[in-house]
Amino acid sequence: MDNQIITKRLSDLRTAERGVITKVYGHGSFRKRIIEMGFVRGKCVTVIKNAPFQDPVEYEIMGYHIALRRSEAQLIEVSVSDAPAAACRMEANRTFEDESANRFLHQAGHVINVALVGNPNSGKTSLFNSASGSRERVGNYGGVTVDAKTATMRRNGYTIHLVDLPGTYSLTEYSPEELYVREHILQKMPDVVINVVDASNLERNLYLTTQLIDMDMKVVIALNMYDELEQADAQFDYPLLGQMIGIPIVPTVAAKEQGIDTLFDTVIDVFEDNEPTVRHIHINYGEDVERSIGLLQDMIWQNSDVVARYSSRYLAIKLLEGDRATVNVSKECKNYFEIEEAARREASRIEKAYGERVETVITDAKYGFIAGALQETYAGDPTLKNQRASRIDRVLTNRWLGIPIFIAILWLMFQTTFTLGGYPMEWIESLFAGLGNVISTAMPDGTLKELIVDGIIGGVGGVIVFLPNILILFLFISFMEDTGYMARAAFIMDRAMHKIGLHGKSFIPLLMGFGCGVPAIMATRTLESRKDRILTMMIVPFMSCSARLPVYTLLIAAFFPTNQGLILLSIYAIGTLIGILSSVVLKNLFFRKEEAPFVMELPPYRWPTVKSVARHTWGKGVQYLKKMGSVILIASVIVWALMTYPKQPEIIPNDPALHASVAQADLPSEEQQAAEQQEQSYIGQLGHLIEPAIRPLGFDWRIGVSLLSGFAAKEIVVSTMAVLTGAGEDEASLTENLQGQTYTSGPKAGEKVFTPLVAYTMMIFILLYFPCAAAIAAIRKEAGWRWALFSVLYTTSLAWILSFLVYQIGSRFV
Ligand code: GDP
Ligand code: MG
Repeated sequence: MDNQIITKRLSDLRTAERGVITKVYGHGSFRKRIIEMGFVRGKCVTVIKNAPFQDPVEYEIMGYHIALRRSEAQLIEVSVSDAPAAACRMEANRTFEDESANRFLHQAGHVINVALVGNPNSGKTSLFNSASGSRERVGNYGGVTVDAKTATMRRNGYTIHLVDLPGTYSLTEYSPEELYVREHILQKMPDVVINVVDASNLERNLYLTTQLIDMDMKVVIALNMYDELEQADAQFDYPLLGQMIGIPIVPTVAAKEQGIDTLFDTVIDVFEDNEPTVRHIHINYGEDVERSIGLLQDMIWQNSDVVARYSSRYLAIKLLEGDRATVNVSKECKNYFEIEEAARREASRIEKAYGERVETVITDAKYGFIAGALQETYAGDPTLKNQRASRIDRVLTNRWLGIPIFIAILWLMFQTTFTLGGYPMEWIESLFAGLGNVISTAMPDGTLKELIVDGIIGGVGGVIVFLPNILILFLFISFMEDTGYMARAAFIMDRAMHKIGLHGKSFIPLLMGFGCGVPAIMATRTLESRKDRILTMMIVPFMSCSARLPVYTLLIAAFFPTNQGLILLSIYAIGTLIGILSSVVLKNLFFRKEEAPFVMELPPYRWPTVKSVARHTWGKGVQYLKKMGSVILIASVIVWALMTYPKQPEIIPNDPALHASVAQADLPSEEQQAAEQQEQSYIGQLGHLIEPAIRPLGFDWRIGVSLLSGFAAKEIVVSTMAVLTGAGEDEASLTENLQGQTYTSGPKAGEKVFTPLVAYTMMIFILLYFPCAAAIAAIRKEAGWRWALFSVLYTTSLAWILSFLVYQIGSRFV
């Protein structure tokens, strides 16, 4: 005889009562924690002590005593009957003689509550009928005006309770149906939701899916009306879409009872956490909204019994939208006032930035997500997809026009960056020069003055001059992002970037790398996958940044009288090539595992507000400035100190009498003095120390010192060379000095230090070796110390190897 099974919530059991756990409700992390504590399906739990107002309640499970809060116990479902005693005994004895207990356990643990959710006329009722067949038990829910049918069916040993919910286009609170469906999902917490999607109207139907994704439900999509899709001859890669959104998709033709078996097999697999496609993804609502969501989530997380039942992300999104039902839920939070205040403040911030209601911003992002997902998976009749995509997109992402337009926009961007940026650059340069002069004259001579003028003002000033360029570049990028063009650019480049193991969105950071590595590395944040972020960061340094350009121009001008443009181009080309090869190699080395594909959103085109573009531009600019203020400052001071100490004794005594007695010609010139000082200094000693390592590359210790100084910033390489060759600040004399420089000792004594081959090798080395301190710091911040260190070692060894090859092979021919 079957035992009478009653399911209850664990919190309802009285002291000394026992039951078998049949289900743990609640939200992801709560469930995980509770299951880790031993509240696993099929386990026996006994109430040690449960008085009406006692909280927490004490339980015994698997021989342990555990206290649970009442609110937590409420989310655990248990079955009680005559059998649990037997079942629990059986568990203890590990014997299976008790047939009824065995069956009880099996039955109790294998009940799946399934809700059918979908647009009106998507075929829910047809699906419900063909699934439940004759065993259908139809009834109305009492107390609600809307109609929901339930049925119970058995399948592969599972009991499936199926609920056919009213059809809705959305889960907002505009109609009683919508609210009803939403409350059903949130309060009844079905184990699996079947989202019935009309295949002949994907875009509209998938909107509801995005809301289920926000709610973080276990979902299976029934791709219904699949027959119509096939008739229309549309190509729809639904398995790929399923992987992208982390939801298994099963095609069905409910009216002809096709695909129903597979659908419910999938439901069971999902219920048992046995379906590889399932993955919780986040729909990206854009930088501003995401920041607000994160902020609210942190506050919500302080309320453990709220996050046990709801996805904090979902609550945060709904609070931003000002959703009334969610505001009610949030009243359970102990920091409710703080949350509500923050939600209002953040919402108005978003509304100001976009000039639109938060709900609209979020809805647009959802449609952008769907459009992007379908763009990659759906080909065929656009009316079926119900394409909202505008005529603009047909031009901008056109197969033939897309790339030329993109290149033209990039050209405009870089051209403006450098021409327009040139003016403020000069102002800043003269400002810092003036500042240096003022301090030079105002302060007494001494170490402090040198530190301030040469170390701090010289070092930081040399980098801050790039701020206007960077702001203009950021302005363009923010504008492209905010209008929605950037997402299209990522689409356009995606195919090519995939070939080298990267993602379409990696293209922009790489491009920015030609300007400055620091913002480029910061820009990798827009990439969803860690693999893409890190790979991109690792190859950004090979996109020769503009700070290296002065070194190239100096060396090319000095040693390559002809084909100058071609030589320069070859350097950039080699860098790009090394970047591409590195990406392929590093991907195979570190990121073998194929990652799940993800959706590239296609947000609607939108004319951005001045405010939002300005804020995004400035936000990025501030990050750059912060880096200048800290890392570059410290690095310049260190390099300065290494160059200044230990100090050589003064050669020219201050005594005017003595001064007069020394013949003017015998005095070492100021430049020579500086050069000698450099050689004696720590960095000079370091240069000598590393000389054996760089000799095979044809470099002398001075080149070594210059290269080392590039750690602070690459532009410093030129000024170090100037100091070391005694050229002062004059570029013409620096060129001559480089050309005339000879080895003073050693096997090469008398030979020229620089030949065209050495110059070219040095350019290769500069192109590839370690990034500057600021870039390293940026990598550390985005990816951690290990990757920063790896980047330094990888780039430098590659630089050495390639320079070695160039020099050694070149020496045979030249
Ligand atoms: P509901 O509003 O979601 O419950 O949708 P219904 O189950 O009432 O179905 C709406 C209409 O679509 C009915 O006329 C069904 O016969 C039809 N229908 C349902 N499933 C399919 C299908 O897979 N293919 C086709 N061609 N029609 C279907
Ligand atoms: Mg119906």
